[in-house]
Amino acid sequence: MSTLADRYRSVKATLPAGVKLVAVSKTRTVEEIRALYDLGHRAFGENYPQELKQKQPLLPSDIEWHFIGHLQRSNVKHVLPVAHLIHGVDSERLLDEIDKRADERPADVLLQVHIAQEETKHGFLPAELLALASDPGWMARWPRVRFRGLMGMATNTDDHGRVSAEFGGLKALFDDIRSAPGMALPDFGILSMGMSADASLAIAAGSNLVRIGTAIFGER
Ligand SMILES: *Cc1c(COP(=O)(O)O)cnc(C)c1O
Repeated sequence: MSTLADRYRSVKATLPAGVKLVAVSKTRTVEEIRALYDLGHRAFGENYPQELKQKQPLLPSDIEWHFIGHLQRSNVKHVLPVAHLIHGVDSERLLDEIDKRADERPADVLLQVHIAQEETKHGFLPAELLALASDPGWMARWPRVRFRGLMGMATNTDDHGRVSAEFGGLKALFDDIRSAPGMALPDFGILSMGMSADASLAIAAGSNLVRIGTAIFGER
């Protein structure tokens, strides 16, 4: 049977230099997270505000917590103080709330884009986001938000062609926003796409951050 250390090393071995690994620890115990921490890992991803709030004080303070779940406005005040990066920002109203609650430290966010065919997934529509974000005044509406990049989830399917096309579309949108005339976005460099099942396709399409749970910790 493979150990956590074996699985962690084999996941890391598949990542090219420059691709960051966020270990998705939703539903995992504090002991499991601690074991990966002891192997040297520092970036963890959580989906549920309550769970993040419970685990964070029980674990070392140099962990970088990524909030990767769907964030409701009412939970922004709980997540903001502990999150290093919020991946799933999917509406202007949520941006309003994050801007309102951010204190001295600007809030680092990724805009979530709806690239999948599934209705259950969240995010801005690609065309909508390109129109909004290419207006240099748009991001300035939230002065305490620092826009770091984009996040997306592909359709959950064995059709690799479709998954690659969805990731390719997100990469193209990322490049379009960064190169839009008049845009100066020095901090906008993160493209968060790829999970256990589709990380290799995401990396081939240009991802520089993968969110991996099952392949490291085992089945949930
Ligand atoms: C759960 C989750 C992951 C990790 O999924 P695995 O299949 O366990 O690797 C990645 N991203 C998001 C947004 C998730 O909710």
